[in-house]
Amino acid sequence: MNYVFDLDLAGVAGIIKKEGYTCVALQLPEGLKDSGVDISNRLALDADCEVIILGDPCYGACDLADFEALGLGCDALFHFGHSRIFKNARLPVHYIAVKIPRDPLPLLKENLDQLPRRVGLVTTIQHVHLLDEIKKVIEESGRSVAVGSALGRIAYPGQVLGCSFSTAKDVADDVEGFLFVGTGNFHPLGVALSTGKKVFALDMERGELRDMSDVSEPILRRRFAAITRAQDAQSFGILIGEKEGQRRLGLAKKVRGMLEEKGRSGYFIALREINPDVLLPFRGLDAFVNTACPRITIDDTARYKKPVLTPVELEIALGIRDWEDYAMDEIV
Ligand code: SF4
Repeated sequence: MNYVFDLDLAGVAGIIKKEGYTCVALQLPEGLKDSGVDISNRLALDADCEVIILGDPCYGACDLADFEALGLGCDALFHFGHSRIFKNARLPVHYIAVKIPRDPLPLLKENLDQLPRRVGLVTTIQHVHLLDEIKKVIEESGRSVAVGSALGRIAYPGQVLGCSFSTAKDVADDVEGFLFVGTGNFHPLGVALSTGKKVFALDMERGELRDMSDVSEPILRRRFAAITRAQDAQSFGILIGEKEGQRRLGLAKKVRGMLEEKGRSGYFIALREINPDVLLPFRGLDAFVNTACPRITIDDTARYKKPVLTPVELEIALGIRDWEDYAMDEIV
């Protein structure tokens, strides 16, 4: 089968044989689930082992299914498409790269003249292997390129996550602006808001170099509207992520403290999956504050009936912080 991603399944089969695993679990990102059966067939055949596909949604390595794999009697977990966040796990975990086989260089070369003289380079895990080549092309145009170090939950230099822009902040003082390589608006928006710098997004899916100043404003307008709607809310659901790498109980308690100080009430609600449907039954609450994955709040704003804020946005709604000091919610 031809995948729309580059996958080294021969390498995976090699690891299984070398380690002598007889049963392995596969944790696949949503975009790869469709290929799960083919991957399973291939590994069962090439490595002669039992394969269990873990079917629950998985959006990041913050949701490592090591506990589930162990419970199913597996010898190891193969986690596809995300980089390591946890240092320790309950059984051997192998992180398998899922690369998107698109060449960004032609699009980059066409648009080089739009980039500033001192560029910070950032990307997501699917393109991190291309950074050296991209850096070289930009440098050949006479510009300087800075790539931030891997800090905290980030595994590779220059990599950003929806919950961490530390690599961008690491070099922000040395650059005039950033080039983000990847798809979507969430990550480059996060880079722009966390550094205060101009950001260009090289989007190979849409075949364009996007100036994020044109995109950030409508997103921020929607956030401002959500904050304004929550200003008069009296009762808040404080959402706590049950996924290990999204669980911020300390922050949830801080949020409740802030609410109580301002005469509002806050109720802890722990969830694995957070979406508009699971919040519907909480009809008695006026608004929500999300302490789990920060992407949930920003990406799906329009789908929620009641305002869902990040903890930073709650501070603005309660008058503790100014709108001018808006910041992305990050997990350190
Ligand atoms: S918390 Fe969200 S953004 Fe961060 S790794 Fe998990 S799914 Fe990705």
